[in-house]
This record gives sequence, C-alpha cells and structure tokens, in this order.
Amino acid sequence: MDARLKEFAKLLVDVGLNVQPGQTPRISASVEAAPLARLCVEACYDRGAREVIMDWGDDFVAQQRYLRAGEAVFSEYPSYAKAKLDWLLEKKAPNLSIASGDPELFKDVDPARMQAARRAAGEPSRPYYDAMTANRFQWCVGSYPTLPWAKKVFPDLPDDEALAALWDAVYSVCRVNGDGKAVERWQAHIEATARRAQALNEYNFKSLHYTNSLGTDLTIELPENHVWAGGADKTPDGVAFVANIPTEEIFTAPRKDGVNGRVYAAMPLSLNGSMVEDFWLEFKDGRIVDLHAEKGEEHLRRSVELDDGSHYLGEVALVPYDSPIRNTGVLFYETLFDENASCHLAFGSAYPGSVKGGDDMSEEEQKAAGLNQSINHVDFMVGTKDLSIVGVTHDGREVPVFVNGSFAF
Ligand code: ZN
Ligand code: ZN
Repeated sequence: MDARLKEFAKLLVDVGLNVQPGQTPRISASVEAAPLARLCVEACYDRGAREVIMDWGDDFVAQQRYLRAGEAVFSEYPSYAKAKLDWLLEKKAPNLSIASGDPELFKDVDPARMQAARRAAGEPSRPYYDAMTANRFQWCVGSYPTLPWAKKVFPDLPDDEALAALWDAVYSVCRVNGDGKAVERWQAHIEATARRAQALNEYNFKSLHYTNSLGTDLTIELPENHVWAGGADKTPDGVAFVANIPTEEIFTAPRKDGVNGRVYAAMPLSLNGSMVEDFWLEFKDGRIVDLHAEKGEEHLRRSVELDDGSHYLGEVALVPYDSPIRNTGVLFYETLFDENASCHLAFGSAYPGSVKGGDDMSEEEQKAAGLNQSINHVDFMVGTKDLSIVGVTHDGREVPVFVNGSFAF
C-alpha cells in the first residue's frame, strides 16, 4: 500500500504538476487525504520547490458550514480569499487539488445556499480560474478514495473491503502498481495520446458521423479552427503538465449549430446524485429538440433547461472502448474517472482552447468561432463496443476514425 501511495504522489507532482525548481506550488486537499497530500509536499520539495503552500479543507466542516452557518455568509466572498488567489496568480503557483469527496456530502444542503456561494465567489475568483483554464500556470486534479465514496461505489462490500477495492481501482486506472514506474508509463501514454491528437488535427475534419447498434445516428460538425487536445497541456513558458489524472480522452468542441440526429447514452448518468438511465437526445441544428430517459427523465430535462447554452453541445471526446477505466467495470460516481471510461459528449460550455487562439479570445470572439457557452457542462457517455465514427474532410473524403469502439489509427 505504502509503495503505491508514494508512486501515486510522485506521479501527481512529477507528471501532473511537473513542478520546476524555484516554483511555489499550492496543494489543496481535505484532511482525509493527508497521507497523500504530505507525500506530495515532500515530492514538491524534492523537485526544488521554493515553498509549498498547503490549503487544508475538511469535508465535515464544509458540510456543517453549509448546513448551519448564517444565511448572509453565502452571499459574501471574503477579501482575504481574493487576495490569496491574486497572490497565487501573480506567482503563477502550480495548483494541485486532491479531491476526496463523499458524493453525497451535500445532499441535505439547501441548493440555494450552494448557488449563492458559487455566485458570490464568481466575480472575485474569476481572474484566477480563467487563468487556470487557459493554462497560464500548471494545474492538476487528482483523487483520494475515502470510505463514503467507496461505500457508494461498492455498497455490498464491508467497509474495509469496499475501501480497498476502490483504492485498487483508482491505482489501476492511474497506472500505479508499486513498481515505481508509473511516471514512465504515463510518459508513454501521453506520447501516444499526443500522436493521435496530432493525426486528428492534420485531418482537420469538417464533420464526424457516429453510428452504433443502440440507434445512434449523429453528425457533429467541427469549427473550422478546431484543435484536438489530449494528454499533456503546456503553459506559456513551455512547461508540460497533465490537468487530470487519470485522463484518457482526446477532445475538442463541436460547432454549436452543427449537430444533427440522435445519440443514445451508453452508460447511466449521475446528475448531482440523481441517476438518469437509458436515455437519448435528439439534435436539430445544434439544439436539443427532444429527449427521453427510461429513468430520471425529469432530472435530465431540468439540466438541459438550466440555460440556453445547456441545449447545445460543448465537448466531443474520443476514448477507446478498451480503456483502463472501462476495463475495471466500475462506475465511480466521479466525473474525473467516469468521463474517461468511454467516448463522451457534453452539453453546456466548450473549452475556449478547443479552437486556435481560443484562450485569448473574448466571449464574443469565442461565440463567433462556433463555441457554445453555458454555466453548465454535463459529460455523458456514448461509446459502445460497436461504435463507428467516420470523419469527413473538407474535400469530401471519408476516413474511419473509430471502428468497433476503438481508434482506427
Ligand atoms: Zn471530456
Ligand atoms: Zn467534459
């Protein structure tokens, strides 16, 4: 156990953050994740960090605050919190977040309180998070399995076995096996992913046509200047980092008004703890015009109707059916993992970097480039064992992209 935890910490710091000598990384983790967070602190200093800023959270305290603090608290954003983010941004401090969340931690909290808090934090924290999504500094999100999470994933196992099973699953999909070579395995994985993304970028497809035996028949047009990305990202200084561990996807954005046909989900979707099962979405000129779910249809409908942008796709991501996450057969109830189990789409916002120069575009320019905008971003799985995707180039050539659920090249 210890050897794997150490290897995991090294993977997050060496490959995820790629901390450079003299940098000031910031790590946020809840106290539950202390064993991993402390190993990450050590690994940062091993790489020559100037100082490691540790931000401890506590799931229990966060829950009590949302349940019991005075109402007015949630519409305030303290100036010291903003000052801290501004300081971290000025230092371009690499940011590692270790998520250990209980998927049901906030299930009894009044959603209005959480919404108010999100809104209050929105403006003041925006420069920081905009810089992060535009990759102005290194950032990485990793996970630390905890008992409430393990019980959600393996409800029939006794506590200790459930927790051990979740750890095994997380290690296996993160390519950590205790031999100390996870970093090498990730370097090979990142290179293979980059090669495929480059091949897709060279084809510069006009559209993708999805079909499978579930009944999916969907055409997705891509923006003229779309960019496929996957594996590692780069800061403006040229430092490579991996924003999500694990990651298997290669993704870009569809053209907002260029999606037509019907797509069937390949896996259940967990929406804020509510399950949506066996569903399809129908598109006309980009917009979701009809939907159906055998279970949880009202949750799906509410999410699609959250704002206008939720009616359109913002992400198209390719993941081979034969991926390490899929092969565990585990539904993690955690997007970081589940979205890497299968080809997926997302309704809601697009990543600005999905078009050339998008990270430096204004919202208006992003819109003009064909990117969708929304306060929502909901990933759902569409990849099956028999999924076929055919790319059509601007000069009308048809190129197999996916055959039988996996890359054709
Ligand atoms: Zn994705
Ligand atoms: Zn997504």
